[in-house]
Amino acid sequence: MSEQVHIALRVEGMTCDGCARHVTEALKAVPGVEQAQVGSWRAGKATVVAKPGVTNADLVGAVQKAGYHAVLAERREVEPPRKVPAAGGQGYDLMTIGGGSAAFAAAIKAAELGARVAIVEKGTIGGTCVNIGCVPSKTLIKAAELCYHSAYPQFEGLTACPPPSDWQRVVQQKDELVAALRQGKYVDVAAVYPNITIIRGEAQLLGGRRVRVNGTVYEPEKILVATGSSPWAPSITGLQETGFLDSEQALSLDALPASMIIIGGGSIGLEFAQLFARFGVQVMVLENGPHVARAEEPEIGQALVRYLEDEKVRICTNVGITRVERRDGDYLVHTEANGKPEVCRAERLLVATGRRPNTGGFGLEEAGVRLGAKGEIVVNEYLQTTNPDIYAAGDCIGDPMYVYVAAYAGGLAAENALSGVGRIFDLTALPHVTFTDPQIASVGLTEEKAKQQGLRVQTAVLPLDHVPRALASRNTKGLIKLVAEEDTGRLLGAHVLAAEAGEVIQEATLAIRFGLSVQDLADTFHPYLTMVEGLKLAALTFKKDVSKLSCCAA
Ligand SMILES: Cc1cc2nc3c(=O)[nH]c(=O)nc-3n(C[C@H](O)[C@H](O)[C@H](O)COP(=O)(O)OP(=O)(O)OC[C@H]3O[C@@H](n4cnc5c(N)ncnc54)[C@H](O)[C@@H]3O)c2cc1C
Repeated sequence: MSEQVHIALRVEGMTCDGCARHVTEALKAVPGVEQAQVGSWRAGKATVVAKPGVTNADLVGAVQKAGYHAVLAERREVEPPRKVPAAGGQGYDLMTIGGGSAAFAAAIKAAELGARVAIVEKGTIGGTCVNIGCVPSKTLIKAAELCYHSAYPQFEGLTACPPPSDWQRVVQQKDELVAALRQGKYVDVAAVYPNITIIRGEAQLLGGRRVRVNGTVYEPEKILVATGSSPWAPSITGLQETGFLDSEQALSLDALPASMIIIGGGSIGLEFAQLFARFGVQVMVLENGPHVARAEEPEIGQALVRYLEDEKVRICTNVGITRVERRDGDYLVHTEANGKPEVCRAERLLVATGRRPNTGGFGLEEAGVRLGAKGEIVVNEYLQTTNPDIYAAGDCIGDPMYVYVAAYAGGLAAENALSGVGRIFDLTALPHVTFTDPQIASVGLTEEKAKQQGLRVQTAVLPLDHVPRALASRNTKGLIKLVAEEDTGRLLGAHVLAAEAGEVIQEATLAIRFGLSVQDLADTFHPYLTMVEGLKLAALTFKKDVSKLSCCAA
């Protein structure tokens, strides 16, 4: 007999994240409940993992008492994970297709549950983040930042690191770091778990649970597709013929060009723009929308544009690109902005217009796995695909494409696949960071999105020249914007443009996750001369003029 039961309830009457929290807390308070989750109040569903003695009436009653209405949707036993291989010497409980962050998190979770796991990887172990994504880009960005800040005070008016030969040294150090982290965080980690096997080769789904790799056909009990994503380029006349750099190639250029055009003003485009500008490349960003950093608050995008322009990055918005050609070794990008044609010229062209899931050519549709409009794998809230034995996690299920989301999804999908525990994939209070200098970090709703959801909001914007840490560091570039619910003061969104904003955002993430108000932030101790004190000051701005406060916001 199973030691746990999974119970799903349909819950009526929830109208906001606060309701979802109340229902979750009411369910967690029932004796014998081990986990309770409401993925999103809109879905009107709660799931519980509990000891078998917990009755349906206990749970329905608890929800009722909290002020909502619940009915039973499903009750089943949670399967204990199998401890033995399913079939013969090649039997695996779980096979991951892909060997990146989602797959590794899944494999480790499965191994911890006692399952036997195979990771199938056709390229480089570790996938995008460690090899060609987060790690190499962030170490180059840091190098550019150090270079820029050390050059700046010594040479007045000079805003970039002069010797281009440094680039090769920096790339070499980046490659060394990537190799060390790949070994330490992936290859060595897999070796620690005796029940994880790495199979090098390309996986092909053959239908049902069958997978062919290097001519061998396996039939694992469950499959996790974690094949990641690849750079995507729009269809622009001449682009395919001229060729262009993608983010991976840009991280490993042999030599720095004199000039570069970047198509796309999202996170990756902006990070690369500043990185190359700081190494002395003349950079121009072409963005077809009205703003760069489109997902962010307009104040933040506008301020960042000013800072990048101060560093001689040219940023053009509302630009339509009519065609691309090559002449005399340069790229010519024919554009039109506000009815005016312009030809932009540069030595290199980088296209940073987003990524698309890797879901073609390995038998997904033949295996009964449905794909969405952008090629993403369609999954339910448990990350199960339309083939009940196949789960999917990471970039291949579409946005948001972040490594911490991929890893969370991989672990959750493995647990759901192997034990049927029924954990909901929950992206409530998901922060994200753009690693420009200053960084952009956000969590929760923007003012516009909150209003679109029919919420009545109030906002506070605090320029960083009110934050003692920024003044002491002589770097007041940036601002903090908070969005709160008008009636309750509940924090709905926090948007930070600041040096190390990525660290500051974590407090706001917890505040949103646990339903705190801006008054809670204002009433909480924040050490003096820290950047996170800016959150408290921004919270105080709802009621006070911070320019009239003394030190420590007294
Ligand atoms: C330039 C850049 C910077 C980034 N910076 C950040 C950042 O700062 N923070 C952040 O959170 N995220 C960042 N990301 C995003 C992050 O890297 C990805 O979200 C994450 O790596 C996705 O992990 P994954 O496991 O889904 O896929 P991947 O890590 O891409 O792994 C998929 C693997 O599947 C393999 N594969 C595909 N098909 C098959 C097949 N048929 N058979 C066998 N193997 C197959 C591929 O070879 C690949 O190794 C960045 C991405 C880029 C490109």
